[in-house]
Amino acid sequence: MNFHVMTLFPELIEKGMNTGVLYRAMDRGILSLHTYNIRDYVADKHKRVDDYTYGGGAGMLLQAEHVYQTYLDVMRQIGEDRKVRVIYTTPQGSVFTQAKAEELSKEEDLIFLCGHYEGIDERVLEEIVSDNLSIGDYVLTGGELASLVMMDAVSRLIPGVLNNDESAMTESFTDGLLEYPQYTRPEEWHGKKVPEVLLSGHHANVEKWRLEQSLERTRLRRPDLYEKWKAEHDNKS
Ligand code: SAM
Repeated sequence: MNFHVMTLFPELIEKGMNTGVLYRAMDRGILSLHTYNIRDYVADKHKRVDDYTYGGGAGMLLQAEHVYQTYLDVMRQIGEDRKVRVIYTTPQGSVFTQAKAEELSKEEDLIFLCGHYEGIDERVLEEIVSDNLSIGDYVLTGGELASLVMMDAVSRLIPGVLNNDESAMTESFTDGLLEYPQYTRPEEWHGKKVPEVLLSGHHANVEKWRLEQSLERTRLRRPDLYEKWKAEHDNKS
């Protein structure tokens, strides 16, 4: 997977990606990261990227042309004849989910566009963006953290990024439920014991316990997911 990020703060993206599991995956060539500073594509010497919004109102907007020139350069690097998804991180997008992460992880290249100020001139968004995605119903100062969240979630689904591929399969949301509680050594901590069934070595009982715990946890913490899971499973049976 090759990530291409159009941003005013490439150093934030690079710092966020150059750690831990993602750094290791980049080092091994499973992932690559290319950042493009939108300011580098401003023709005038003042390097100003923003301007006032037509119609009035508080705040500034990123101008269309600088974003467009950045995009053209990204496409030159990738290969202009290729069709590559361009994700605009925006609170006005549909909310990013594990299912979306799975869908995006199948792509070879992804382009992220990070907004700032009050956002970006609508005309360039209409021309280049394929997906409007939000990381939740709140407003950030810029799209960099949102891009990092999405790149992280997508990366860990790419074969070879995690040491143990199975862990991505059993995690929360993968089957529509939250994951069951987990324990590691010691067997007793602060007077709390690891549930007996997990020490039993009885695989079927462990699986049964985990499913029950997943269901109960999802029912209590995310009733919306629980109802969806139940409706789907009631339909199947
Ligand atoms: N005026 C915009 C609005 O009301 O929709 C908000 C602009 S926000 C201050 C600046 C930039 O941060 C956006 O262009 C977007 O790239 C990013 N951003 C803010 N909140 C976000 C969210 N929840 N998810 C994804 N990106 C977000």
